[in-house]
Amino acid sequence: MGRLRTLTSRTLDLLFPPTCLLCHGEVSRDGTSQLCQECESILRPTRQFSCPRCALSCPAVLVAEEGCHRCRHKRFYFDGVWSLGVYRADLREVVLRLKRPDGEALASYVGAKLAGYVNGQKTFQKPDFVLSVPMFWLRRALRGTNASSSIASAVAASLHVPYREKMLKCCRYKKKQGTLRPSGRRKNVRGAFRLAKGYDIKGSRALLVDDVMTTGATANELSKVLKESGVRQVCVVVVARGSGSESYI
Ligand SMILES: [Zn+2]
Ligand SMILES: [Zn+2]
Repeated sequence: MGRLRTLTSRTLDLLFPPTCLLCHGEVSRDGTSQLCQECESILRPTRQFSCPRCALSCPAVLVAEEGCHRCRHKRFYFDGVWSLGVYRADLREVVLRLKRPDGEALASYVGAKLAGYVNGQKTFQKPDFVLSVPMFWLRRALRGTNASSSIASAVAASLHVPYREKMLKCCRYKKKQGTLRPSGRRKNVRGAFRLAKGYDIKGSRALLVDDVMTTGATANELSKVLKESGVRQVCVVVVARGSGSESYI
């Protein structure tokens, strides 16, 4: 059976050679990647130093124990943030592509990469469950997809922990965060989320997954709901960290 399956998959590869999810170029036939070598390098975590508290890319000298120069006076309900890099250039393109209606396979692939990256970090502790940013039902119905959910589901599968898709609810229609200034973003999400009934999460560790984090207002509001429900630790993992006006320059 095993040989037959290998033979069948080889025949299928010959008939329909696998192509890169991003550029449709040729993919190595060893079956470990769904991107060509060049596109694969976009997902390599940045070597630039970033703040462990908010993941803002900045020189190490600007980071103290209580965070970087931008976040040390802010109150965060989450306990740490990881990202593959800064939301610009090719990584920004990847995020925009995985948010498209046909971007689900790419979102899952990026999610698996993200899980591999965080799992290799010394300070990372395996969560009890993975969550994504909930979308208001009407917006989801209109869009048909939720990139955050596709990435989170792949992160959970790779870490072998449950994905609790329905644990958090978005209880009202909000404006898109990207269209608002930082203070407007905080206001826009305040009180917008709640924990669904029937979950006892006291003392647990949660991992919140999203595509991009810019001001952190959404992640912070969701983390607040979780902490107020008794969650012990909330960590955030995003594909890219948007610096917005918060760049250190
Ligand atoms: Zn490619
Ligand atoms: Zn920081």
